[in-house]
Amino acid sequence: MSLWIQVAYIVAALLFASGLKLLSSPATARRGNLLSALGMLLAVAATLFTQGLSFQWIAVGVLAGAIIGATAARVVAMTAMPEMVALFNGSGGLASLLVGWAEFVRGQQDMQASLAVPILLAVLIGGVTFTGSVMAWAKLQDMTIGRFKLGPALVYPGQQVINSIILLGIIACAVLLLMAPPAGGNFLLIIIGISLLLGFLTVIPIGGADMPVVISLLNSYSGLAACAAGFVIENNILIVAGSLVGASGIILTKIMCKAMNRSLGNVLFSGFGSAASKKGKAAEGEAKPISAEDTYYILEAASSVAVVPGYGLAVAQAQHVVKELGDLLEANGAEVRYAIHPVAGRMPGHMNVLLAEADVPYDSLIEMDDINPIMETIDVCLVIGANDVVNPAAREDETSPIYGMPIIDVDKAKTVIVSKRSMATGFAGVQNPLFFKDNTRMFFGDAKASWQEVVSEFKSG
Ligand code: NDP
Repeated sequence: MSLWIQVAYIVAALLFASGLKLLSSPATARRGNLLSALGMLLAVAATLFTQGLSFQWIAVGVLAGAIIGATAARVVAMTAMPEMVALFNGSGGLASLLVGWAEFVRGQQDMQASLAVPILLAVLIGGVTFTGSVMAWAKLQDMTIGRFKLGPALVYPGQQVINSIILLGIIACAVLLLMAPPAGGNFLLIIIGISLLLGFLTVIPIGGADMPVVISLLNSYSGLAACAAGFVIENNILIVAGSLVGASGIILTKIMCKAMNRSLGNVLFSGFGSAASKKGKAAEGEAKPISAEDTYYILEAASSVAVVPGYGLAVAQAQHVVKELGDLLEANGAEVRYAIHPVAGRMPGHMNVLLAEADVPYDSLIEMDDINPIMETIDVCLVIGANDVVNPAAREDETSPIYGMPIIDVDKAKTVIVSKRSMATGFAGVQNPLFFKDNTRMFFGDAKASWQEVVSEFKSG
């Protein structure tokens, strides 16, 4: 039977890898997701044939997991997905920590260093992932403890020294444990405690626009922890699945860093916008509001339009009305493109998913690097619920916390219409000079209601 389990694992691994490959394009992503899910079903089914399992406990786990998963899928809003992903990453980390710890306790008497090493890694990476993810969740929720706001980057003197001392403490305990594993129970407990502390402390100094990076990094950690747990319990599919999550998480982290034009070290250690010099210049001038009717007149005369969606479009659930507007504009003879910034919204691919939901064709989606060179030829740029990803301070103001982050250069279009409810800042808390530029008009209101008005103007005009 064990041979069949291994064969099933190989097929599952192939399904995971091909699923991941298909996930790289929106056109094939649905199929990729399905293939990977099929692989997971096969892996779980094959694992259930392993000798000596306790089915009562498995049933309890399946029931608890199914209830939590089904409830989360139903009640968690699309805009709260990053928080959910953070918690799921954390759960993966905690599970690996518990597997490592339980295996240590079970085999402590005859524990060999060869098994103690993966146990250490599962516990260490799992612990950091767990508390790091809880902290990331609290930051994304913009949680406060008393008057203390967790959301922004919190940097304190000697932070890196403290983290280095903690790391050295972990290394020292690990060496002591490996010298005599059967007697190392207390060292393992200390490592568990310090790795939990390290998770909190490494995520505390990250905040603002750098959060996409930390979420994908924690995702990668959860995979590495699972991979180590796979070595602990000698389960090949856990090793493969963990490595795939670890590797793809690191690739995503790299993509996110590139999107922020930052190095990973800079994101992890510099504290977004926390330096006194990094407050940015105050955006000045007078914003020029525009009505739905005037927006209609401008759009009616436009022959090229670019829509730049952001987090507010997701909040307002305006994707369907925006697609309807796009169709009307095309029927009116305009060329319509949707410009996608890699960190728009609150999770990687957020805007692609939203627009796909509204059946916007994939070939109308243009990446930032492709739209920017032709921005000057665009008649009207509609910025719908986006803010940080179109903030020219990233290009022009060296004192801005987001200076250097690549943005969609909407201010270079002939006319820009910004659709949002107020003059409030976006996720990074940075003022946006775009709102005061001569070619910008502010279309205030909830995105869905506002664009419904414009669509009505089109239909009646
Ligand atoms: P921002 O958060 O910068 O701005 C969103 C804007 O939407 C706000 O300024 C808000 O203004 C407006 N808005 C909110 N609700 C509505 C509504 N109902 N109707 C109309 N407008 C609305 O979003 P961006 O997409 O531009 O940038 C994403 C930010 O999130 C970046 O800083 C990125 O680093 C960060 N981030 C991204 C992640 C990712 O993986 N993509 C993960 C975590 C963070 P107002 O209140 O005035 O309406």
